[in-house]
Amino acid sequence: MTEGCTFNRAKEMVKQLVAEKGFPHDESALMQKLLWAFVELGEAADAYKKGMNWEKVNEELIDVVFYILDFIGIVEDTQGIQIDVDRLFLEKWKTNMNRPDRYGQRRGV
Ligand SMILES: [Mg+2]
Repeated sequence: MTEGCTFNRAKEMVKQLVAEKGFPHDESALMQKLLWAFVELGEAADAYKKGMNWEKVNEELIDVVFYILDFIGIVEDTQGIQIDVDRLFLEKWKTNMNRPDRYGQRRGV
């Protein structure tokens, strides 16, 4: 089932999960999906800070991806459009590959 998993496939799997588990899938839920994505990113930062194992840190990062795909899936269904997440990723990757070294980072951090 997860073989050859793409962003698009994962987006549909998240839709299935959300439907089966009774989570909201309407426009009014969009902001909370973004909020939960931030929360999960915070959980990843906290796990890293506390020296938890990489499996745990990465699991929290995947939670972020779940909420991002959840958000995009809602936009798709409420706006009646198809969003090709694989294409979006590839186009953004190409854009970034064509940028100069360390684009957008003028100061050391
Ligand atoms: Mg989590």
